[in-house]
Formats: sequence, structure tokens, C-alpha cells
Amino acid sequence: MKLSVIGTGYVGTVTAACFAELGHEVICVDTDEKKVDMINSRQAPIIEDGLDEILKRNVGVSLHATNNYEEAVRNTDFSFICVGTPSDIDGNIDLQPLKNACRCLGTNLRNKKKYHCVVVKSTVVPKTTEDVVIPIIEKESGKSAGSEFGVSMNPEFLREGKAVYDFMNPDKIVIGGIDKRSQLCVKELYDKIDTNVSITDLKTAEMIKYVNNSFLATKVSFANEIGNICKLMGINTYEVMEQVGKDFRISPHFLRSGAGFGGSCFPKDVRALIGKSIELGYDPKILQSVIELNEKQPLKVIDILKKKMNKLEGTQITVLGLAFKSGTDDIRESSSIPIINYLLEKGAYVVAYDPLAMNNMRNVFSNIRYTSTIEEALENSDACLLMTDWDEFREIDNELNLMKRKLVIDARYVLNPNDIKADIKYEGLCW
Ligand code: NAD
Repeated sequence: MKLSVIGTGYVGTVTAACFAELGHEVICVDTDEKKVDMINSRQAPIIEDGLDEILKRNVGVSLHATNNYEEAVRNTDFSFICVGTPSDIDGNIDLQPLKNACRCLGTNLRNKKKYHCVVVKSTVVPKTTEDVVIPIIEKESGKSAGSEFGVSMNPEFLREGKAVYDFMNPDKIVIGGIDKRSQLCVKELYDKIDTNVSITDLKTAEMIKYVNNSFLATKVSFANEIGNICKLMGINTYEVMEQVGKDFRISPHFLRSGAGFGGSCFPKDVRALIGKSIELGYDPKILQSVIELNEKQPLKVIDILKKKMNKLEGTQITVLGLAFKSGTDDIRESSSIPIINYLLEKGAYVVAYDPLAMNNMRNVFSNIRYTSTIEEALENSDACLLMTDWDEFREIDNELNLMKRKLVIDARYVLNPNDIKADIKYEGLCW
């Protein structure tokens, strides 16, 4: 089957590459020329396990990229909208990229005779497909949704870092549609994937994605709250959660206390659901607490640092880990960001290392030192903050000896507290 993917960021590139790998013909469309060129030269614009290999196999054969909507709409039967839906200043989602994509799709559908199905994969608050996407496309194309073109909503649940695996091995596929035809033709695209496919209406599909992310974010904030309480009593929350997670009703996932969740999804999706609830006259207390606790959690690292050091001005602080989690180069809403901001404000000299995310962080902080090894990052430092649970940070015993003052604050349970050498002053965030 032939499909186009609009927006080739994390979700779009993985979607396009995996559909091509499943045997479909795919055209990627992005307004960012650099991304278009990268894909056409078989290079992934993002770092994801296995993605480069899939692009190498498929680009030039069943996949190519362009900035030309006309070419993409004319030559395909589906268009998956995968543009970003970032938070605006009020916490609601910014629909501008989505609206722009819809306008371009609509204009190019005007003269198309063949049936075309528009599939929203971007995360959008319930009723956005009905209230925003459909009216724009109908206006620009002069056609009626349902009878003259199809509309589906197919949320994405992939985890960054494991995105290719997750696309190919999902727990579920959710397909919302304006009508049976829109639902079933999208289902057919996934025929080779062996999983549960659930068919529903547009707004239910949109809501499933928000509830999925909001529940996971709630679980993380809950684990962090318990971790903060455990810390006050000298209890290791990881030992507690290991046992709690054995209860099948709870599951062991997302119970790891730390410096808060980040990334492009949890914070913005919970905020958007809060915004929508308030707009409807409902006060979403649990969701509000989830965000409130998450915003305060990184500052717990600072609280410990301040207790251990008289002043930060003129000190050298190493930040190990910049990505919002291991396995990705994504730094969006990473908890390292508020911490580095605070350290710089207080006059500390910040040295940072991350195996994948330093290039992205350079766009946020050009005034800190990035090193190419963990050793360089730790040399002569007064304190080390472990902010991302990269595997390579688990064996840094020898490197810690390079520090001036050996204070280590572990925000992610990277080191085993039982194995810490006597001369290291080790503090866990929640244990
Ligand atoms: P992203 O910012 O990485 O990528 C968006 C891409 O869209 C960019 O390459 C941008 O240049 C392009 N774009 C913007 N406007 C365009 C237009 N008018 N026409 C063509 N291209 C355009 O975003 P992302 O992280 O891939 O997220 C995309 C959507 O998927 C969001 O709604 C997000 O919430 C959702 N989502 C993300 C993840 C994730 O882990 N990143 C997981 C599930 C769902």
C-alpha cells in the first residue's frame, strides 16, 4: 500500500521507516530541508536503535523524503500526520503545525479523484480531529469527510529509545475512524503486525492516548512522592517498590523514583488534559498534583547539594546525563535543565557529559563545558550529579577518584549504594 508521513521527527521517521520495512511504499514530508536531505541520504534525523539499518535498506527502494505535499498526496492513498503538538505558554497544545499540515493536505486533495485517508498520529486532545482537522481539510479541499475522503486517528504509544521495537511489537493498536472504511483501511496497513487491534471513534482514540500517558506520569509522580517520604525515614524506596511491583495489579514498571519525568510527551500531555478538563469546568486535582510534584522533584537534587556544600559559587559541578532518559538523545523537558539553570544562576562552573544528548543540549546551554569522556567530566570536580541512568555510568568507581571533593548525588539509582567505596560521599535522591 502507498502512504505518506507528514512530519519526520521521532514518531514520523519511525512510522515511515517501519511501514516501509513492512512492505509499503512510503513518502516522508517535512518542512525542514535538513531532515529531508538526511533521510534521502539514508541517515536518521534522530537516534533510535535499529532505525539507521531500516533506512539503509529502504531509502531509494520503497521510501523517500520530500518537502512537496503535492507529490506526496498524488502518489499515496494515506497521509499520516505526525507533526509536533508542543505545549503553548498556557500548557495547552499548540495546534499551529497541525493546522498548517491540514491546510497543505486539504489544498492538495482538492483535485485528487482517488480516495485518500488522512490519519492523525500526532497526540491531540479529544475532539481535535473532529473540530480542527476535518473542518480545515474540508474547507481547503472542497470535499466532505467520510464520503469523499477518509479520516482516522491512530495514536502512537512508542517509547523513545525502543521506538522501532515498539512499532513492530506493540501491546495494542488503536484506530479511531469517522466511518468503517477509514477504520478498516488503516487496519489493513498493520496486517503484518500480530497484536490486538481496537477499532473505535475518533475522540475515544484521542482520549486513550492521553489516559495512557497520564496514568504512567501519575505512577512516576506517585513513586517519587513515596521516594521522598522514604528518604525522610532512611528507607530505600527501590527495595520497597521492588516488592510492591510484584503485585500483578500494580506491575513493576514506572516505579523507579528519580528526578522527575521529562520528554516530549508526559509533561505536555498531562498539562493538555488538565487544560481541557478545566475548560470543561472540571478541576482535575490528581493530574494537577502529578505536574506540581514533577516540577519540584529536580530541585530535590539541589536541596541535597546545598546541604552538603556551603556555597556553589566558584565550584565545579559535573552533570552526568542530559537526555531525559537513557537510550535517547532527546533532552526535551529533561530534569537536567532546571538543575543546570540553577547551578549557573548560583555561579557554579558546570561540566557535562552524555553519550548521545550533548549536541542537543548545546542548543539550550552554550555556556557550560561538554566533555568527550566521563573521566574529563569528573576531573577536579566538587560534586557529581547522576541525572540519567545510562549503563556506562554504573561502573565509574575509578573515575570518581579524579574528583576534588568526592560528593556524588545519584538521582536515578544508577550506582548500587552497597558498593560505594568508603571515601565517596554518596547521597541517593529517594533512598
Ligand atoms: P518532533 O518535533 O520530533 O517532529 C515533528 C516534525 O514535524 C518535525 O520534523 C517538523 O519539522 C515537522 N513539521 C512541523 N510542521 C510541519 C508541516 N506543516 N509539514 C510537515 N512537517 C512539519 O515531534 P515528535 O516527537 O515526533 O512528536 C510528533 C507527535 O507524536 C506529537 O504529537 C507527539 O506528542 C506525539 N508522540 C510523540 C512520541 C515521542 O516519543 N516523541 C510518542 C508518541 C506520540
